[in-house]
Amino acid sequence: MNVEEPSGDVKIGLEIHCQLTALKTKLFCSCSSDYRDREPNELVCPTCFGIPGTLPVLNEKAVEYAVRIGLALNCKIASTTTFYRKNYFYPDLPKDFQISQYDKAGGVAIASAGYVQLERKKVRIRRIQLEEDPGKLTYEGTIDRSSYSLVDYNRAGIALVEIVTEPDFGSAKEAKVFLERLRATVEALGVSDGELEGAMRCDANVSVGGGGRVEVKNISSFKEVEKALSYEVLRQSTFAGGAGGSETRHWDERRSITISLRLKEGEQDYRYFPEPDLPPVVLSREFVDRVRAATSEVPEARAERYVERYGLSAQLAMEISRDPELSRFFEDTAAVGAPGPDAASWIMGLRGQIRKMLSGEGRAISPQALAELLRMVKEGTVTRAQAKEIFARMLAEGGSVSELAAKAGAGALSDEEAIESLVDEVMAATGVADAKTNPKAFNYLVGQVLKMERNADPKVVARVIRKKLA
Ligand code: ZN
Ligand code: MN
Repeated sequence: MNVEEPSGDVKIGLEIHCQLTALKTKLFCSCSSDYRDREPNELVCPTCFGIPGTLPVLNEKAVEYAVRIGLALNCKIASTTTFYRKNYFYPDLPKDFQISQYDKAGGVAIASAGYVQLERKKVRIRRIQLEEDPGKLTYEGTIDRSSYSLVDYNRAGIALVEIVTEPDFGSAKEAKVFLERLRATVEALGVSDGELEGAMRCDANVSVGGGGRVEVKNISSFKEVEKALSYEVLRQSTFAGGAGGSETRHWDERRSITISLRLKEGEQDYRYFPEPDLPPVVLSREFVDRVRAATSEVPEARAERYVERYGLSAQLAMEISRDPELSRFFEDTAAVGAPGPDAASWIMGLRGQIRKMLSGEGRAISPQALAELLRMVKEGTVTRAQAKEIFARMLAEGGSVSELAAKAGAGALSDEEAIESLVDEVMAATGVADAKTNPKAFNYLVGQVLKMERNADPKVVARVIRKKLA
C-alpha cells in the first residue's frame, strides 16, 4: 500500500494546539508566558494551581488572537462563547481540570465551521477553541517503561488555541501540507511563532478502511507528523479487514513507532460542565469587525491582491507574500512608482540583503531609492549589473542613487566580468548543447544576454560566450 497517495480508505483528522506566543501572560492569570529556558516551576501562582479562593481572569488579548485565527480560517465567530471544565486526573493538571471550551451541551466554542482551501482540496475546520495548556511531563526513558516522571507547571495555564479539522485528509502528506500552511497563517497573523519549540503540537485521528478511530498523541513537531501518520496508516492497514480497535496511541519519537497507551476515552469520561468562575464572553459585532480590520492579511490573500493589483505572476506573488517584511517593502516601493513585477523580482533577487537591511543591519535603502534605481535600469542609464553594485554600495556605505550611478560610470556595458555573470545566468537557464556548432543557437544566446542587459556590448558578449563554449 502506498501511504503517500491519498486513498479513499484513509481518513485523518487533526487537532492542532497552537500556543499564542505573542501573549506576555498566561490565559487566566498574570504569570509570564515566557517559559522556555526557565527553571521548572518558576512561573506559577495560586491561580495556576486553582487554589480555593482564587479566580481565573480571562486574558482579553487571547480572545482577540483566537478571533483573528478564526477569521483567517473562514470560520463563523460565535456571538457568545463559553468556557467549560474538562475533568481528568493526571499529574500534568494541577487543578485536576482544564479550562477549555465545549461545543455540546450548551457550550459554544469561539469559532466554528470554517475551511482552508489547499491546492487540490478544501479542508473543513470543525471548531477553534481557547484553552489552557497543562504542565509538561518529562519521563525517565520512554513513556511506557518509565519508573517516574517529572512535572513542570510553568506551561500550565499558557494560552492555547485548539484547531480541530474534519477527517478530510487522505494521506500523511496532505496533513503535512495543511500544517505548513497553518503555521504560515498564524505567523502572518502575528499571534504565534510556530518555529518555537512546542509552540505547535499536533494530535491526529487516523482510521483506515472503516476501522476504529485511533488517536495519535504527542506529535511534538511538524517534522514528525508525516512519519507518525505514515507509520499509523501502515500499522492499521495490516489488520485483517483493516479494522482495529479504538484507542489512544503515543508517538514515540526516539523509536519512530506509535505505542498503545489506553483505550480511547469518550467525551463522557471528561464530565464537561460550564466553568462557574467565568461568565459567558460576548463578542459584539463591532469587536469582531474591529479585529477583522486590524488583522493582517494571510499570505494567500496578499498574493492574490498582488496578482490583481500589480500584475505579478502567481508564483512571484506567492513567494514575496510569504514574507511580511519583504511584502511591506515591496508595496512601499510600488507605491512610489516602481513597476510591480520589476520591483518584486528585484526584491526577491536581493532578498537576503534586503532582509538583513530590514532587520537593522547595514544602511537603510528607502523604497524611493530602489524605485529610482529601477527606473534608471529601465531607461538604460545604468545596467542591471551596475544597479546591483549600486544597491550593494548603498547598503554598505550609504549615498544617493544618482551619486553612485555617476561614480559607477554608468553607460554601455563592456566590463567583461559583469557580462560573464550575465552569460552564466543565460547559459544556466537555456539549453546550450549545440551552440558550439549551430550559429542560430549561438545568436540566440547573444540575444538572450542582450535582452537581459540591453546596454551590454554585443561584441564583448559574443567573445565571452565563445570563451565559455570552448
Ligand atoms: Zn499563574
Ligand atoms: Mn485541547
